[in-house]
Amino acid sequence: MSEIEICPCGSNQPYTRCCQPVLEDHSRATTAEILMRSRYTAFVKKHDKHLLGSWHTRTRPKSLNHEDFPVVWLGMEIHACENGTAEDTVGSVDFTTRYIEGGQLSMLREKSEFLKEENLWYYLRGEADIKKNKLEQNKPCPCGSGKKFKRCCLNS
Ligand SMILES: [Zn+2]
Ligand SMILES: [Zn+2]
Repeated sequence: MSEIEICPCGSNQPYTRCCQPVLEDHSRATTAEILMRSRYTAFVKKHDKHLLGSWHTRTRPKSLNHEDFPVVWLGMEIHACENGTAEDTVGSVDFTTRYIEGGQLSMLREKSEFLKEENLWYYLRGEADIKKNKLEQNKPCPCGSGKKFKRCCLNS
C-alpha cells in the first residue's frame, strides 16, 4: 500500500479528500475556511490556476512569481473564522503560517477577508503581521527532517 499524503493545510485529512478536489474545482470551496485552506495548499503546491482563480478581481495580481514566495512552508493554523459559512456572502479567517525563507523562520499572522460572488468564494485582502527569527545553523531544522539547519533548508 502506498503512503497516504496528508493535506498540507493542517486538517490531518488525506490530501485527495481535503484540498485536492478544491484545487481542481473552485466551486467545492463552500465556506471561506475551505477556500483559505485550499489557497494555502495551492501555495505549497504552486498551483497558480487555483490561486489566481480564487483571487478577487479587485486585488488579483496578473501573475505569480514563486521566487517571491517562501520555499519551505511549515504549516498553517486557523485561529478563528467570522461568518464565511455557506449562507454568508462575506467572511474572514484569522490564521498563522510558518515558513523558512532566507535563513529565517517566519511566522505570518493574517486576517484574510473573503467575498462570495455568484456562489463562489474569493480571497479579497488581508493585512499580515510577520515575525522573523534568525535560525541557528547548527540547530535542528524546523522542517522536522532531523538534520541540522545548515545541511537542510538553509539553502532553499
Ligand atoms: Zn487541506
Ligand atoms: Zn529542513
